[in-house]
Amino acid sequence: MASILERYEEMLDRLYSRLPEKRSKKALDLPELQIEYVGQKAIIKNFSNVSERLNRDPRIVMRYLLKHLAKPGAINPSGQLEIFGTPSSSTISKIFMRFLMTYVRCPTCGSIDTDLVRNKGKVWFLKCLACGAESSIEAI
Ligand SMILES: [Zn+2]
Repeated sequence: MASILERYEEMLDRLYSRLPEKRSKKALDLPELQIEYVGQKAIIKNFSNVSERLNRDPRIVMRYLLKHLAKPGAINPSGQLEIFGTPSSSTISKIFMRFLMTYVRCPTCGSIDTDLVRNKGKVWFLKCLACGAESSIEAI
């Protein structure tokens, strides 16, 4: 699983390096994190907007990021995610990209317009609003 994701990231890196920055992002329509550092915290300023764009519960996104960063954190009253221990912005972005590839992007058609369907068991489903494909994914 990890190696497949790594290969995907390599592929994306290559894609980004070949295309002009603005065009590639527009083409894939990926939201970009705005990360700011205040004291001993990294703050994702547009966290609620990004979660909304991805059609994901911010708590799910937070849970994934904090788990994989192995850092404590919380969503503040302004809807920004505060991560303690100042992880680098490239690490945060990399893990966020992995979340996107696993829990947002449709593996069939590549669209990020998907729904996350959670049930009580350990298996969740990704339902694509573009092509209708359903894929089972691991619960976070
Ligand atoms: Zn699809």
